[in-house]
Amino acid sequence: MATSTESHPYSPAKASSQQKIHLGQNLCFLCRQRPVAGRILSLSQAQIEAAECDIPCAGCSYAPRPNFWCHHICYDILQASYEPQDQPTMQDLERLANATKPSCKPKFIEGDGDVDSAWEGLSSDNVRKVILHSFGHDLLYRLPDELRILICKFVAPCWYLIVLGETRRLIQTLRYNRETQWPTLRLTREIWLSRINYRGTRYVARLNNRPLEASSITDQECITLPDSLSQIVLLIDYLGLRGIQFVGHDSVPLPDGSPWYEILEIKDSQCLKINVDYNSIYVRNVNLISDEPSSAYRVWSSPAIPSFRMRNYHRIRDNPRLHYMKIDNSTRGLIAYCSNDVLIGLHTFTGLSKTFREFVHLMYKRANGSFKYWIYFPLNKNEHLTSAWVRRFAFRSAKASRPAPVIQTSLGRSVTFGPWHLNTDVELYEYHALVDGPDGAISGIFHDGLDPDSNYITEFGVTCSDVYLETKMRTPPMNTDIQPLTLSSKERGIQSWYVTRASLHGLVMVRICTDRDQPHSPCLGMLLFYRDEHIESLGQVRWDKDLTQEVVHPTFLENATVDGKPYIKGVYGDIDRNGFHSELGQVQELPRSGTIAWWFGQRGDKIVIY
Ligand SMILES: [Zn+2]
Ligand SMILES: [Zn+2]
Repeated sequence: MATSTESHPYSPAKASSQQKIHLGQNLCFLCRQRPVAGRILSLSQAQIEAAECDIPCAGCSYAPRPNFWCHHICYDILQASYEPQDQPTMQDLERLANATKPSCKPKFIEGDGDVDSAWEGLSSDNVRKVILHSFGHDLLYRLPDELRILICKFVAPCWYLIVLGETRRLIQTLRYNRETQWPTLRLTREIWLSRINYRGTRYVARLNNRPLEASSITDQECITLPDSLSQIVLLIDYLGLRGIQFVGHDSVPLPDGSPWYEILEIKDSQCLKINVDYNSIYVRNVNLISDEPSSAYRVWSSPAIPSFRMRNYHRIRDNPRLHYMKIDNSTRGLIAYCSNDVLIGLHTFTGLSKTFREFVHLMYKRANGSFKYWIYFPLNKNEHLTSAWVRRFAFRSAKASRPAPVIQTSLGRSVTFGPWHLNTDVELYEYHALVDGPDGAISGIFHDGLDPDSNYITEFGVTCSDVYLETKMRTPPMNTDIQPLTLSSKERGIQSWYVTRASLHGLVMVRICTDRDQPHSPCLGMLLFYRDEHIESLGQVRWDKDLTQEVVHPTFLENATVDGKPYIKGVYGDIDRNGFHSELGQVQELPRSGTIAWWFGQRGDKIVIY
């Protein structure tokens, strides 16, 4: 194996100056891992020193940093795998870094494809030379697939397997692929495409309207366009184009597991042309060449996009990626995730499905603030959503207005997916009505909470049925008639409380949500079941926590304190009265009527009866 030479432009001897640089969320373009303190290389500066960062790091949020950088050791091991005359040049590395740059923050895709890349590395000849005496490749190939996947999961992410496997293959592709990608294509009867593997996904490598010459016949596929083309559906993610569907008037686009679908409507199917955005390795995206601009709302998380009216849509920015969820008989409720007083995500709840678990996982990945809260709003049998508003700050720019959806149902129940505010602050807010006179019940909701370009939900809309409803409310519910019992002057200026409320009349049972991951196992919230069989929720009802403890005729609450903050320690029924031993002053009795409100936020949890 060759070694890197002293004469290379990245040689430490040529480093002009050394300063500690904060690299933020950027990842090494050779191994896709985070920086470590110490020597790194950038494409614009010979050699720099990476700072040691805290999480979160203030220095990373404002300091200028190089567009592309790599670990010194990744660079060394890559160069050492070539003969000196074949080593990648600075131009090769710059093309690679540009081609593989994701279009979103790396934290959203960090780890994606690492297992596939580990397998490619383990099976590559370059790695075989490195681990020749310690790893039996022949034995590895004899293992069943399940065990091989387990081994790859165990070793991933592994920086040198990625550098010597996938990264090296991409550099070879950049240098030696002879197939031309034309920037403009006329859409003829047939379109030919080839594919390339990257991070466990098959991306479209080339698009052409005649067979690709440099690819073997098995490496390419031919798509025949329908006679009357109505849509081109692009299957995309944060790196590039995964597929393309040409949809006729009598067919529907199909989902394939891609995170996003860009739908290009075809007005005139004669003489169609497309621009191909190509990054030297694979196709990033495709644009339609047309006199008419494409819709600003063309990217959705599903290819079956809803039909909505602009009056039902609170819109702030152009070209958002939108996520649509139907509200139907299978919808048991809505779940919202808030962090730092803004709404990060909102999802329908139909049970503990794979979709729900993926949503919870994504929310944890997205919100990096220290205060995170869940709001669960159950929907009852035959109850439908009748009214919706977006509450926002009145005197701020649209982008800083912190929109919070407010929803009301046919049973008069309501929820605000955002923090509570004081009645004296009413004039600071305005409510934008989403449902108008002629609109029927809300049949679905959509928002931009899954869009990696948005830090929180700014776009929110609803779809409505055509059946007119009498039960619509004209004025939004504000919860300004209640407030936490003790509100110090310090607390008054801070939007730090969330509140959920319910009636105590007719309550027969509660189901407690307990966080057993915390040593003091606090009650986070509860589901309330009533004599008339309807359900309410209080506090944070979290389906990813323990929701098994049931209490019939809840009569007492036990309050406690941890780190100076109040929390709810337990809920007890009438039969527990004699055996109840908590200290005096910590017990709170629940009456059989009135309103119960569960306040929660960064100052703890309190239950107040009104
Ligand atoms: Zn690296
Ligand atoms: Zn930093």
